[in-house]
Amino acid sequence: MEQKKSLEAFVREAEAGGRSLGAFCLAQQALEMECTEESLKQALLDRLQVMREAIAEGMEGKRSRSGLVGGDAKKLSAAASTPNWRSPAGANVHLAIVYAMAVAEANAGMGRIVAAPTAGSCGVLPGVVCSLGEMFALPDDLLAEALAVAGVIGLVIASRATLSGAEGGCQAECGAAAAMAAGAAVNLLGGSPEMAGQAAAMAMKNMLGLVCDPVAGLVEVPCVKRNAGAAVIALAAAEMALAGIKSVIPADEVFDSMREIGNAMDCRYRETATGGLAATPTGKLLWQTVKNLEMP
Ligand code: SF4
Repeated sequence: MEQKKSLEAFVREAEAGGRSLGAFCLAQQALEMECTEESLKQALLDRLQVMREAIAEGMEGKRSRSGLVGGDAKKLSAAASTPNWRSPAGANVHLAIVYAMAVAEANAGMGRIVAAPTAGSCGVLPGVVCSLGEMFALPDDLLAEALAVAGVIGLVIASRATLSGAEGGCQAECGAAAAMAAGAAVNLLGGSPEMAGQAAAMAMKNMLGLVCDPVAGLVEVPCVKRNAGAAVIALAAAEMALAGIKSVIPADEVFDSMREIGNAMDCRYRETATGGLAATPTGKLLWQTVKNLEMP
């Protein structure tokens, strides 16, 4: 059985070395993967490029094959250009939502995405990282470093709990993505390793208990909009952490509790599409409609 990793240990080591969590994670992961820091950074820059391409693809507004999703990122972006538009979320959050939805819609349309940590939750990390990068004109090197932080947080969650909706519900997918994105956001904006760890804990705490209930068994509804919601939670957690607010329950224990909650979840809420939104009258009707579409 794989040994449990500890986010607190990563944070402590980074703090002791006087480095940002991103710089420490890059060096540590390069060592573990037996490659140079430069080649690892280049691999992360390549992932960043795929994320940007997925955003662009999603913004085209193509609908998924089932017709259940697609076009909402484009619609939201266009709304901001209308004369009387007043954004309840503000410009930064608006952009994060648009990008998170765009990538999730690209995924539903069979586009190329970076599973971060899964395809279903692929919009959260690019939504947060790419929007902050743009809003604060941050260099790509820093964005790559933020992806390294996200990767390490994902590794820790995988080792202590799970990243699979079929095992732990959506808290394991969108919840993990929110924790990863929150830590990445703190690193991007110059927060300490301790703050990044706190952000990951607070993001996951806000996603605990979230079930996986995909309508018609497709990674479309509610997945696309959950990516948007998880991106906003990640930003809220990063905002709190950067102000010095701490999670009362340490990050590793929060991840452990996600595992415990997932283990207790009825199988209806673990990607079987037999409970929650999938089992509503509308959800069932849509499943029938999609099935009919698939008939030759
Ligand atoms: S609802 Fe299920 S399939 Fe959709 S993103 Fe969440 S875990 Fe993935």
